[in-house]
Amino acid sequence: EPGLYIVATPIGNLGDVTMRAVDVLSRCDAIACEDTRVTGKLLKHLGLSKPLWRYDDHAGENDRARLVVAMQEQAVVLVSDAGTPLVSDPGYRLVRDARAAGVSVTSLPGACAAIAGLTLSGLPNDRFLFAGFLPVKDKARRDMLEELAGIDATLVFYETGPRLVKSLETMAEIWPYREVAVARELTKLHEECRTGAAGELAAHYGERPPKGEIVLLVGPPAEEAGEIDAEALLRQALETLKPS
Ligand code: SAM
Repeated sequence: EPGLYIVATPIGNLGDVTMRAVDVLSRCDAIACEDTRVTGKLLKHLGLSKPLWRYDDHAGENDRARLVVAMQEQAVVLVSDAGTPLVSDPGYRLVRDARAAGVSVTSLPGACAAIAGLTLSGLPNDRFLFAGFLPVKDKARRDMLEELAGIDATLVFYETGPRLVKSLETMAEIWPYREVAVARELTKLHEECRTGAAGELAAHYGERPPKGEIVLLVGPPAEEAGEIDAEALLRQALETLKPS
């Protein structure tokens, strides 16, 4: 069937490719990907060979228009280097243009580092806000964290090893008490999830900045200073004092 197929790929462990993904990858006409070498490796692992078209952050209006024309006649898969396309990865404009052109668009869900980190962290997940990558520059990073400070939800960020400690230090200043989780190398051999206050984690990782890919999570502000818990306790205590 012609159309656009958004296919999630593994974030480390190749076992995480879904059966449906393998089926669609084996039957599609072409694959649009960020890096042909990375996707080439995945295909080789699956014993497949398909035309690979480069579609990355630098793609322009014309590249998209060509792809959308192709999708009207052919089954075109969109993948990113790892995980779910469009999640801090290219694809949103392509999907928007495909939909506008009346192309059939299907999503094949699968691995996503943000969700894997969230489920592993033990932080409340009834409400969470995915905020993508933190800005590289100190001031911009601080501004973004301050902007998010009042949001009553677990915050989820993508982070890189070399920048982790700096981000944790800034978080320690803004949120000394909120619970933070560092989820690293998810689905891989050295998967790790460490929780604590931002200051503790900054001290831990400051000694040896971690390698690899990281999801950085911050628990909701209600957990912060224990004020809300104290109030609840007081209410409870008053309740028990009430004459029945
Ligand atoms: N689209 C991808 C997804 O669905 O997770 C994310 C792509 S984004 C360009 C790459 C970032 O995702 C990394 O810098 C890291 O923050 C996070 N990430 C990807 N794989 C990871 C893993 N195995 N463990 C922890 N974080 C990972």
